[in-house]
Amino acid sequence: MTETLKKQSLSFYLFFIAILFVPLIGFFSYAISYNTSFFVYLSSGLLAIVVLLMPLRYRFQKKQAEVGLLIQNLHEKENLVRAHIDQEEFAIDSIKEKIINFSQLKGLTEKLSMSIYLEDTSKTLSAEVNRLFGDKDTTIILYLFHSKTGELGISSSQKGQMRVNIKSKQGDVFDQWIVKAMQPLLIEDVRSDYRFDVDKIESEDSRQIRSLISVPLMVGHKALGILRIDSPQPKFFATEDLRFLTTIGDLGAVAIENAQLYEQVELLAIKDDLTGLYLRRYLFDRLPEEISRQMRQNNNLSLLMFDIDKFKQYNDKFGHIAGDIVLRTLGSILTNFFNQPGSLVCRYGGEEFAVLLPNCTKKQAAELAEEIRNIIAEQTIILRREKTKVTVSIGVASLPKDARIKDELIYKADNALYEAKNKGRNRVCSAS
Ligand code: GH3
Ligand code: MG
Ligand code: MG
Repeated sequence: MTETLKKQSLSFYLFFIAILFVPLIGFFSYAISYNTSFFVYLSSGLLAIVVLLMPLRYRFQKKQAEVGLLIQNLHEKENLVRAHIDQEEFAIDSIKEKIINFSQLKGLTEKLSMSIYLEDTSKTLSAEVNRLFGDKDTTIILYLFHSKTGELGISSSQKGQMRVNIKSKQGDVFDQWIVKAMQPLLIEDVRSDYRFDVDKIESEDSRQIRSLISVPLMVGHKALGILRIDSPQPKFFATEDLRFLTTIGDLGAVAIENAQLYEQVELLAIKDDLTGLYLRRYLFDRLPEEISRQMRQNNNLSLLMFDIDKFKQYNDKFGHIAGDIVLRTLGSILTNFFNQPGSLVCRYGGEEFAVLLPNCTKKQAAELAEEIRNIIAEQTIILRREKTKVTVSIGVASLPKDARIKDELIYKADNALYEAKNKGRNRVCSAS
């Protein structure tokens, strides 16, 4: 098709040239035959034109090359500008992403700063991690190191919006890895990560885990725990997510440390240094609400008052430090014995203790008092290689039988205690 078109246009040009040139050739042939010198003029004229056209052609070619170069330069510039625009767009996108991240972190910090207690802080932290990274299948676990044993323990855990029960209470292989390395961990797919034994993981936990990000919670060099999120889907998390979780972990660690310190300070204010028991102030604070609760439920509430017999003499004989050891020993005997939920053991004064027993009748309280009096009397306390013993006198009063308000209950138990002292010590007396 195009071949025939080309042929047609060629024959058109030839035809056109023939039409134009035939009269011209005729004219020139006539002119030459009429005047022979016309040929010489014509030839020299043509030669002059050719000579004049040569530099023009050279200049034209030069200009053409220059324009070509200019166009090339412009193309290069255009490419550079395009690359620059791409870079700027990328920078704008990453700034937008940073702004989103910062506003999310701001929200997190505000929520964390509102939680004073450790339980609230833990819940807030895992809820926020769920909001930022999670879906209905992801599981978030926050582990904290136990302050005394140093073992890992779950502080909060959730799957989607729900609380979830985790089988490995002290952490699985991934958590043990974090404990050793104290570094953030990203696993894109458990099955292709040769650092971990897949069979062991699957036998340890019935939950399906394919990918995970986890960070240690550190404040300075102090490790507080681990914050992790895992998914049953492979490649659910990317390096960016781990980086963001690390920042969240840093903020969370500070909030957790603050909450722990706050709770410690609170305990210091209500607990006795020597015995670790609650102070009298705490008993006084708790009593009114405990009394109204037990009265509402038509329950009994008993109060036991203890006083060590002839403790002054004991101190004089063995020294004050030995006396302190006795107080500490009695404190732990009492907490071990009265371990029912709701029971409250406190150091009431110097060598006086009080025990509050909710839902306990006067008769049951007197029986328990007799039992513990015996245990204490038979307990041998070794001081400077010498076997020693102490005895206690106990007063019992109960609600609603003996009293209906706090002061009355304490007064009745105190009176019963003094009765026990008066009757010869090392005995239990109930309020009359
Ligand atoms: P009673 O049988 O009448 O109770 O005689 P008591 O000697 O126990 O009574 P008293 O109230 O005269 O003495 C209480 C003693 O308890 C006096 C004090 O030395 C001692 N005490 C109080 N607090 C502490 C303490 O924290 N550590 C030691 N080691 N002794 C204490
Ligand atoms: Mg006393
Ligand atoms: Mg005493």
